[in-house]
Amino acid sequence: MRLLNAGTYLLILELISPTNVKVRSGKTFVLEPGYYGYVGSALNDLGKRIDRHLSTKKKLYWHIDYLRQIASVQSIIFAESDKRNECLFAQNLILKHQYVSGFGCSDCRCKSHLVYSSSIEELTDNALAAFKLSNPELAVNDGEVKQLHTND
Ligand SMILES: [Zn+2]
Repeated sequence: MRLLNAGTYLLILELISPTNVKVRSGKTFVLEPGYYGYVGSALNDLGKRIDRHLSTKKKLYWHIDYLRQIASVQSIIFAESDKRNECLFAQNLILKHQYVSGFGCSDCRCKSHLVYSSSIEELTDNALAAFKLSNPELAVNDGEVKQLHTND
């Protein structure tokens, strides 16, 4: 398999307590406990990006950096691709889930890049399905969507 080292990913996080997440702009997101799926992509170094999400010791910049400080990473589902398809993926996922309006989409026209579920199984299943819908290349080569479990 050709390793592109670029691709789209879904970070699955667990939030234990209700939390108000205040981000760099001063905007506050009110979040219920449960599971959250954050959609992102990296065009250069996907591995390095995933490492950055796993770490909590970093300069906080993106919305997800602030959420990451208080939510644990459960798993990361990702698919390598040299095409930027994170927004299509986010839009497919939003059809199936509640979402946090305006989160993680300052640079695009999506309603959100953060979805919510009370069930990690439901979120994982819908994410795997959305990956197949969002990436024709991967839909052909079934099985190239990978999942990394963390012990965060
Ligand atoms: Zn988007």
